[in-house]
Amino acid sequence: MSRCFPDPQTEHQTQTEPVLTTLISELPDLFTDFFQSQCDDEELGPIIQKLKQNAPVPGFVIRKNKLWRRYDNGQERLPVPRKLRSVIFAFYHESLYGCHLGIDKTVSKIKSYFHWPGLNSYVKTKIEQCLTCQRIKTDQSGKKGVLSSTVYSYPGQRLFVDIAGELPSSGIEGYKYILIAVDAFTRFTFFVPLRRLSSETVMKALERHIFQHFGHWDTVCTDNASIFISQKFKTFLFNKGIQRVPLIRFYPNPNIAERQIKTLKTAISAYYAEHQSEWAKSLHFFQLCINSAIHSSTGFSPNRLFLGREVKTPLLLRWDICSDHQDATSQTDMWKQALENLKAAHTRIKRQYDGAHTKVEYNIDDVVLLKTYILSDKAKQINKKLAYKYSDPYKIIRKKSPVTYSLQKLDDPGVIREAHVSQMKIYRIPRH
Ligand SMILES: [Zn+2]
Repeated sequence: MSRCFPDPQTEHQTQTEPVLTTLISELPDLFTDFFQSQCDDEELGPIIQKLKQNAPVPGFVIRKNKLWRRYDNGQERLPVPRKLRSVIFAFYHESLYGCHLGIDKTVSKIKSYFHWPGLNSYVKTKIEQCLTCQRIKTDQSGKKGVLSSTVYSYPGQRLFVDIAGELPSSGIEGYKYILIAVDAFTRFTFFVPLRRLSSETVMKALERHIFQHFGHWDTVCTDNASIFISQKFKTFLFNKGIQRVPLIRFYPNPNIAERQIKTLKTAISAYYAEHQSEWAKSLHFFQLCINSAIHSSTGFSPNRLFLGREVKTPLLLRWDICSDHQDATSQTDMWKQALENLKAAHTRIKRQYDGAHTKVEYNIDDVVLLKTYILSDKAKQINKKLAYKYSDPYKIIRKKSPVTYSLQKLDDPGVIREAHVSQMKIYRIPRH
């Protein structure tokens, strides 16, 4: 949660420097001894006593100076003493390592290492009552899944690239845009702040922040913004052997980068709603946070699938937990499992989607209107709330698939385009 109080050293410069829970020093409970707290706990203490007297307690072991809960499948989690539950929640939800992500993501992050009875409902209640969450999140009930037209099957297969912005210029660095790049299979996400938006700045960002560390992808998918279709950008990719794949705009949301932009914007507003020009300060934390959250479609965190391991955080290091946490699943088994999960999620969402949308069928010569996607543009004096929501009439000339059609503009037959059924509605031609 962002709190404000004057810092004596900088008070003369700024009155309201936002203070963020980035450092473990702001969560003093992390400095308590984990095992000692387990020993002091009224439920865990007696278990430890018994084990120390060599009396077996099914499902519990003491290992490396901690009490562990051991499950039948061999996995182990740390039972959390009552007094440390709130600091664990604060770390995994309120701090910049948590970014106020939703209930499922927060629960699964905590569950990777910890356990306590009623953990799910504890987290649910806390998040429902979290003021920051209530202020930043729109109603997600009735939210539909996202149908990607392809199931990606390995890391490095496709990189979705997109731009967020223009944002309020950030402090002295003057960043105004964020380059977002997402590995389609693992959902591993990169955020790179940019001062200016051009093919060159995007190329440089990709080169220095992504390709330098991780090599090249088979394909890069972008929309048709001028910076991505310029000759310079095309040559840049061509020289690297990367194929550029244009985004089929408006197909039920296959733009994976766009999803991450949404999550990112929520995270930014959680911490910087009142200090918007300082968003760039924590961008690296947001990347860290999103990549360590378990993704609902793959069932793994992007870190796990892309890097092959979870990353260490101050909390785990503080309590010396990383080295204790062993997961024997091999990288290829994990990828296989993730692919199975993705396929299952795809089928599930497709069923939902088909049920909700694609009962509609159109015939050749039907006249339809198309949803327009106009973005607000201050410079051009466009405000999307005031713009038309649908296009001029088009006539259907060909059915390309059960859900896509070729269309011809009614008053300008030279204009041919494709559209997805979800964009179309029948035009009721006025009768004279
Ligand atoms: Zn929250």
